[in-house]
Amino acid sequence: MHIDSRQLENNSLIEGDICIVGAGAAGISMAMEWIGTQHKVVLLEGGGFQYDEEMQELYAGKATGQNYFPLKSIRLHYFGGTTGHWAGWCASFDPIDFKKRDWIPQSGWPITLDDINPFYPRAQKYVEIDKDDFTLAHWLQKDPSLKPFPLDENKVWSKMWQISPPTRFGTTYKDQIINAKNVHLYTYANVVDITANEHVSEIKEVTVKNHAGKQHRVRAKHFILACCSVQTARLLLASNKQAKKGLGNDHDHVGRNFMEHLEIKTGSLWLADPADVKLYEMDFGKTKARAELAIGEKMQEKYKILNGTSSFSPLEIAADRPAFIEIWQNEEDALAKSLDKFESTKKNPTQLKIPKGFKAYELFTRMEQAPNPNSRITLDNEKDALGMPRASLHWELTMLEKNSLRDINKIIGHEVGRVSMGRVKIYDYLLDGKDESWPSFTGGGWHHMGTTRMSDDPKSGVTDLNCKVHGIANLHIAGAANFVTAGAVNPTLTLIALTIRLSDELKKKLASSKSGA
Ligand SMILES: Cc1cc2nc3c(=O)[nH]c(=O)nc-3n(C[C@H](O)[C@H](O)[C@H](O)COP(=O)(O)OP(=O)(O)OC[C@H]3O[C@@H](n4cnc5c(N)ncnc54)[C@H](O)[C@@H]3O)c2cc1C
Repeated sequence: MHIDSRQLENNSLIEGDICIVGAGAAGISMAMEWIGTQHKVVLLEGGGFQYDEEMQELYAGKATGQNYFPLKSIRLHYFGGTTGHWAGWCASFDPIDFKKRDWIPQSGWPITLDDINPFYPRAQKYVEIDKDDFTLAHWLQKDPSLKPFPLDENKVWSKMWQISPPTRFGTTYKDQIINAKNVHLYTYANVVDITANEHVSEIKEVTVKNHAGKQHRVRAKHFILACCSVQTARLLLASNKQAKKGLGNDHDHVGRNFMEHLEIKTGSLWLADPADVKLYEMDFGKTKARAELAIGEKMQEKYKILNGTSSFSPLEIAADRPAFIEIWQNEEDALAKSLDKFESTKKNPTQLKIPKGFKAYELFTRMEQAPNPNSRITLDNEKDALGMPRASLHWELTMLEKNSLRDINKIIGHEVGRVSMGRVKIYDYLLDGKDESWPSFTGGGWHHMGTTRMSDDPKSGVTDLNCKVHGIANLHIAGAANFVTAGAVNPTLTLIALTIRLSDELKKKLASSKSGA
């Protein structure tokens, strides 16, 4: 069922069993999990079914610190959320991503990969890559012509990625959501405030507003914030009527440890021709999967580095390709480009002098950043058109990131050299181990994680191992805001898996409260 909240009588009261705030990758996956149950699901989406400039403007905010994309253009504010222009690259996390690593401050999740693994196949369905798994063996069996580089797997291994069509959640799942009898989708229902009880131990209701000047209240047994890491933190911080520092923020963790994946060119790879690179080829739009060069756990431990993977594409094309961070600085321009997709940024190939008998590639490394409490979302003094303080992002990188990028490429270089496949030349900006500066092309992958990190101790995080906000019985977070560390790979598949896990937990909770257990 679909209701446009602008058409409701002002100050309406909406009630349900669960209330999901935000209909993007996380919110829609969660709602889909409840279709056909006996529970009434209220799905609140700030925007409508199309891109709307007035809605998008609510995302505008300041960005300080390390150069970043404009806040207004990093997420989409309508039904389907940022899947309206995501690229669809998916991979599963590695076991090491969940471990406490003594060289990475604040690493270590209260859960392990084994807790997430059962939910990956269900998550894969939502991004339409459900038939294949992520093991290299599976893909080699499927296509025996694929050949991994003959490297020592303990040092450099071939990690598989799969590419979603990419699924646009707002179109793919729209009919199923609005035809579901028990799912009540409210569009133009922008949540601006959360009201708790007197002891701040339970949420009573949320307030929604729209540009039509109407305001409504929504009550439910459980509330799930699925409005992306930046907006989730902003909403918790702005909901400060009963808790001065914001909801879930008794220990000052909400908004902190904002994490991105560094996505940056790091060197050139010169391979003796003919090198078989079919398994690693980035053939955007045609290939459904490809491998990247990943660093083994033991090597990460030995070098005390972050987890990352490197891909490569022909240097004559890559050398001339401008970095996204450099071309997306103007907000309007950035949005237009992101909606159009980024293929249009390719330029004419450079004429390179490549010695006979070699093929040259550019190494592009995607790497987690370490959790850093100074990288954070806070509230700005300026308010948006609905009266909510705007979000402000301060993004920081450290020498751990820079040294890790260098060592990842060094390890790859040693390995391809050892087996006489070729050589790696690391780019100059990484060579000086004391230089703290970052080049202008330093970018992120539009992956926002960690603003309400998970922890089994309320003093060191915001949510518990089931994504429930510590100390508040019926407030839950769906999405990458829960991530403790970022993993090497893009987050959407894992955030959907985590959301499905939360969904199962909530179903159990509702069943036990019904049976009085
Ligand atoms: C250009 C680009 C390329 C990307 N490519 C990839 C990729 O290849 N692989 C990958 O894994 N990830 C990729 N991502 C990231 C991916 O899009 C996000 O990880 C994913 O969309 C996050 O899902 P979400 O549900 O948390 O947030 P969103 O998808 O942003 O959804 C949040 C929803 O909440 C709504 N909302 C926000 N605030 C409120 C409020 N106060 N009240 C009500 N509703 C609200 C929004 O309108 C939106 O519908 C990419 C992102 C971008 C920008």
